[in-house]
Amino acid sequence: MKTAVFVEKNPLTNRLRDVSMELAWKAHSLMAEHSGEVVGLFVGDQLPEDTERLFQYGMDRLIQFTSSELNHLHSTAFKHILKAMIEAEEPDFVLFGATHTGRDVAPLVASAMKTGLTADCTQLYVDDFKDSGKILYQVRPAFGGNILATIVTPEHRPIMSTVREGVMLLPEKGLDRKPNITTFDATVQPEWIRSKFLSTVAKVSTINFQAANTVVAGGAGVGSRDNFKLVFDLAHALGAEVGASRAAVDFGFVDKERQIGQTGSVVRPKLYIACGISGSVQHRAGMEDSAKIVAINTDPQAPIFGIAHMGIVGDMKEVIPTMIKYLKEEAQ
Ligand SMILES: Cc1cc2nc3c(=O)[nH]c(=O)nc-3n(C[C@H](O)[C@H](O)[C@H](O)COP(=O)(O)OP(=O)(O)OC[C@H]3O[C@@H](n4cnc5c(N)ncnc54)[C@H](O)[C@@H]3O)c2cc1C
Repeated sequence: MKTAVFVEKNPLTNRLRDVSMELAWKAHSLMAEHSGEVVGLFVGDQLPEDTERLFQYGMDRLIQFTSSELNHLHSTAFKHILKAMIEAEEPDFVLFGATHTGRDVAPLVASAMKTGLTADCTQLYVDDFKDSGKILYQVRPAFGGNILATIVTPEHRPIMSTVREGVMLLPEKGLDRKPNITTFDATVQPEWIRSKFLSTVAKVSTINFQAANTVVAGGAGVGSRDNFKLVFDLAHALGAEVGASRAAVDFGFVDKERQIGQTGSVVRPKLYIACGISGSVQHRAGMEDSAKIVAINTDPQAPIFGIAHMGIVGDMKEVIPTMIKYLKEEAQ
């Protein structure tokens, strides 16, 4: 049995995207149970400078194709080369990060391979399916996130999935493995380069949920963009990152990149403080694995209290300033 992982880098830093390592580790744990192999597929202009980390996170082999022509995402070229790699390797399963690149390329490859693709999986496991042998079971939210659907592709290979960054966990310590990298033989055809890059506008985000021990998030209950300053103040006092529910984003209290949940980021901090957030299933999908959850809500029946380790029934406009006052006193 074999799982292929599409390996991606951040072109601005030339370093691996976290999701590539997360998928390598997930594939490693899936394949370890079935004596299978994990092979990485990289297409681009040059290998990421930290490529060796893939092997620490369970990759067995990496197949790479580099060409100076591929210094940007050229979807058609990526499709043809990945298809050729997949045909040569014949993996049972192929995993892509649900990044901008992954979301662009994975459907093209799946269509070219005449197989199925399940987007935004939250859980993957391998098991028997009727007469099809071992297949990949792909779990993802469906019907607006109100149910978790398990999707199977029993009759086509490879079975392909995308997974968002932060959904699969990395171990605290990786493996002690040496890189095993081979070069794939291909030629970029001129007709595959169908777009011309004139300039790149780099939007550098300062938000780093993965590195944050604490996240303070605000919801619709915060009430206004002005009130949301209180969420920032509490985060500042705790050295925390600021998150938000989709309702808070939709109301324009904060930017979309702070959204946590099914269609936002997935976070697992040591402490998550939810202020004026009801706790919808879609929001919980992005934060319920946090080690400690504290909820501040005026409604004692709010669903967020069902998953909170500590609940404060009250108006966040009064509770947050009190918390900040105590934190300042503690610090003196
Ligand atoms: C396909 C799909 C994807 C979605 N993806 C996401 C997602 O990624 N992330 C996400 O968050 N949502 C997502 N949603 C939206 C989700 O269903 C909810 O609408 C949203 O999470 C509600 O946000 P909220 O809890 O801030 O608002 P509300 O549900 O309106 O809750 C506000 C809460 O604030 C409390 N409150 C009011 N005033 C105060 C106060 N002064 N002090 C303290 N508490 C107060 C209220 O009691 C209430 O519980 C998605 C929905 C769909 C259909």
